[in-house]
Amino acid sequence: MVRMSTSSLTLNADLHCHSRISDGVLTPSELARRAADGGVQLWSLTDHDELSGLEQARATCLELGLAFVPGVEISATWAKRTVHIVGLNIDPKYEPLRQGLAAIRAGRVARARRIAQRLDDMGVPGSFEGAARYAANPELLSRTHFARFLMEQGYCETMQEVFDHYLGEGRTGNVRVDWARLEDAVNWIVGAGGCAVIAHPGRYTYDATQADAFFDDFKQMGGEGIEVVTGSHRPEQYQQYAQVARRYGFLASRGSDFHAPSESRIDLGSLPNLPAGLTPVWHDWL
Ligand code: AMP
Ligand code: MN
Ligand code: MN
Ligand code: MN
Repeated sequence: MVRMSTSSLTLNADLHCHSRISDGVLTPSELARRAADGGVQLWSLTDHDELSGLEQARATCLELGLAFVPGVEISATWAKRTVHIVGLNIDPKYEPLRQGLAAIRAGRVARARRIAQRLDDMGVPGSFEGAARYAANPELLSRTHFARFLMEQGYCETMQEVFDHYLGEGRTGNVRVDWARLEDAVNWIVGAGGCAVIAHPGRYTYDATQADAFFDDFKQMGGEGIEVVTGSHRPEQYQQYAQVARRYGFLASRGSDFHAPSESRIDLGSLPNLPAGLTPVWHDWL
């Protein structure tokens, strides 16, 4: 990793985003340039269940003099619910991680067939092929690709509408799937020398007891970090999850979760700083 001059809370770190190798629309190189242009000083690419964009991202960062952190966002299941775990500063060559992610991707293709069948039953034909047209990586079919197809076909105007009506929790197109076990996801990340971070905790629909059990389990398994400032949180949630980080002794992370210029509310590098009194995930990456 490139050496950095600071490990402070005010470093413009953006440690969560997606390229077209998962469900973003830009190439890894384009993202690296956009991050640099947006003032990012420490940047990670964290594609869903994929590592194949990291080499290009690293090469462009080297050209730009931008400090790069190899990352991934793993789809995991805990207590029958989907959670996302970001792995930062991982060794992308670590074989158990690579094999685990390959298994998740195989499950994604099978799930996409079932989503397409359900949409077909609802009177939306051709969505497997339609979604696949938006997926640069045929192994990585995401609900986001289905959403883009549904918008293209005029079923909905916005991504949010698609999730509210077709693909989100409780909707017909939300096919339940067993992702990696949380314990496996954490083990792969830790085994790859990385730091496991709970992605966008404010997005999970847990009650307070379930949330505490989730944070406890994650910590027990070797998880170290939590996203506090993310494009998926409302500003009042920054303080809420800063409290969680302090209470559990989690390292704090910050990332836009940027997917596309036309879809993402928060651009690379444009989030506020982490709240005071936290230890950033990057504190010992010097
Ligand atoms: P998947 O991993 O295939 O289940 O797709 C999940 C992806 O869908 C997330 O990473 C987001 O990019 C996107 N997504 C999920 N929920 C929403 C939502 N309510 N609005 C917009 N995008 C969403
Ligand atoms: Mn996504
Ligand atoms: Mn996520
Ligand atoms: Mn993400």
